[in-house]
Amino acid sequence: MGKLIQGIRGFNDILCEATSTWRFVETTVCEILDSYGYEEIRLPVVEKTALFARVIGEVTDIVEKEMYTFEDRNGESFTLRPEGTAGCVRACLQHGLLHKGQPRVWYSGPMFRYERPQKGRYRQFHQIGAEVFGAPGPDIDAEMILMTGRMLRSLGLVDLQLQINSLGTPQARASYREQLVSYFRRHHEQLDEDAQRRLHTNPLRILDSKSPAMQGLIAAAPSILEHLDAASKTHIEQITAILDTAGIPYTLNPRLVRGLDYYTRTVFEWTTERLGAQGTVCAGGRYDGLIEQIGGPPTPAIGFATGIERLVALAAADHAPSEPTLHAYLVVVGEEAVAPAYRLAERLRDCLPRLRLRVNSGGGSFKSQFKRADRSGARYALIFAAEELASTCVSVKDLRERTEQRRLSEADLVVLLAECIAR
Ligand code: ATP
Ligand code: MG
Repeated sequence: MGKLIQGIRGFNDILCEATSTWRFVETTVCEILDSYGYEEIRLPVVEKTALFARVIGEVTDIVEKEMYTFEDRNGESFTLRPEGTAGCVRACLQHGLLHKGQPRVWYSGPMFRYERPQKGRYRQFHQIGAEVFGAPGPDIDAEMILMTGRMLRSLGLVDLQLQINSLGTPQARASYREQLVSYFRRHHEQLDEDAQRRLHTNPLRILDSKSPAMQGLIAAAPSILEHLDAASKTHIEQITAILDTAGIPYTLNPRLVRGLDYYTRTVFEWTTERLGAQGTVCAGGRYDGLIEQIGGPPTPAIGFATGIERLVALAAADHAPSEPTLHAYLVVVGEEAVAPAYRLAERLRDCLPRLRLRVNSGGGSFKSQFKRADRSGARYALIFAAEELASTCVSVKDLRERTEQRRLSEADLVVLLAECIAR
């Protein structure tokens, strides 16, 4: 026998005991997006490599070192999507959606980044995200923040912090960038290797450094909020006015710059202290210049993405799935009972569309089937053997309450199972 082949590091199996929390998180988030008038879009997992280089930016961590890029059999360069915005923008441009009002779309699915796997950080991970095209804000920016806040609250997550910042217009940012570069040059000896490299390529990203040794230097750096252009200043003030009125607390954080290159003005993050270093659960921002820059019509845009693994990790602590996986397990004893048992099971499913019923498969003695029923986690064992077949009834054993076995007509069985489903 050959050696067992293991899965790939950073690519997780999500096992059955976890999927109910996953579903809870995904449905909750999607329902809230629907309720704010966003529509679902489904996009490919693979795009041309050039798309990500252009949209995300050549000098970002993602494009420089985190992409899964490969050549197909034709020698064309493709990449597993590291995020959802690039594909979403591409699809909206390609299908002319930007001419149809102000599209508000959401997507979900796996993303791929070659990062160092650790708790809360994987190489295949999952995001749900949304984009709004053609709306300049600040109203939609504030609404998106309110919406993401509602999403997190609906998951039962209450101890999250909201941080917001403005990166201003590209012009204001360029002049801030010069000041920042000269500040960091003056303290060159305190920069780590990564920061020294970024000083020449993408100095704002130094503010995003997680290196403990540089936190003092970063805290004393010039603040972008003090270098904003007048219109951007008004923009963020209008956002905070809406948040204040809605009673949503936030922190203005001038060091919040976000990993991607394409942001203008508003950026925001929801963070927690419960997940160690991987504390950002939801992040977003405005990217007004991007669509024009990649050849589309000038279109303001804003979006966010949330990491499902991190939401699941937080929700799992609070959300114990209360429903039994199975309502019933049908024990079928004897060859002659098999066909009528399947007919019974199908009739029950006709009457009770939400019934979770497993029919025993592969025969076995009454005792061994009963053991399987017990192990399945079902609430009831339904017993269908020669006697039941002859008297057109079903014996029922409550596997939780351990009460006496009862014999029920099919109609009474439907009533019992309906009650179990409704519970
Ligand atoms: P981080 O600072 O944690 O690396 P990021 O700025 O790279 O995050 P985005 O690209 O904005 O993150 O992605 C949005 C969200 O997706 C993050 O806030 C996080 O919840 C999640 N996420 C990003 N990368 C990973 C990963 N490798 N594994 C799990 N979740 C991730
Ligand atoms: Mg990252």
